[in-house]
Amino acid sequence: MTEILNALAKIQSLDSDIEQTQKEIEAIPKKITLFEKDVEKAEHSLQEKKKRVQEISKEYKIKEGDIAANETKIEKLNSQTFAVKTNEEYRALLHEVEFLKSENKKTEDEMITMLEEEEKLNSTLGAFEKETTDTVNEHTRKIEDLKQHRETLLSNVKTMKSDFEGLFNKLPKDAQELYEKIKKVRGKAVCLVEDETCTGCYASLTPQFMNELKKKGEILLCAHCGRILIFTTADTDK
Ligand SMILES: [Zn+2]
Repeated sequence: MTEILNALAKIQSLDSDIEQTQKEIEAIPKKITLFEKDVEKAEHSLQEKKKRVQEISKEYKIKEGDIAANETKIEKLNSQTFAVKTNEEYRALLHEVEFLKSENKKTEDEMITMLEEEEKLNSTLGAFEKETTDTVNEHTRKIEDLKQHRETLLSNVKTMKSDFEGLFNKLPKDAQELYEKIKKVRGKAVCLVEDETCTGCYASLTPQFMNELKKKGEILLCAHCGRILIFTTADTDK
């Protein structure tokens, strides 16, 4: 009977480990997705910064063109002033020249702001690019590690399941049925006794019951939760 009780304890331990490992395996894809999203975000952010630098240089050229066009207009208007006949016409021309000059001034101010932004972006871009590369490399490595870890866990589960079946199939039929019945209701079928307590429901066990457990003469169930109770050698040593 001691052999059966020891086997039951080992079976439960394997069963719990299998369950725990399977939960760990199931959690891995979610972790991988999170890292992949981070990588995507970092790369996107870098691309946005690079794009902005290009945009600025494109917009800057357009503004340069606008200014040049206005200057040509101003020159033309200035030359027209010599040909005007009335004061009113003259004032109108001057007014238009002033307007174009103020437009150019506005555009020039905008260009200065753009240059400042470009300078700021360019000065941080190198560091940001390195940071992004580091993040991408680090996360890619973590993803690979997780994939590798998943393979290891899958292999562990396979081994544990085979060990479990090996031990379980050797149990007497009634012990097998009892294990499965309790597992179905309680999730965990076998509990170890610690400090004269059932570790499944934390009920205290009576001295008489403890004596019966120590005898290891039969499979005993916790009177409170109905799980199989095993008194381990480690507990005897205390
Ligand atoms: Zn119990």
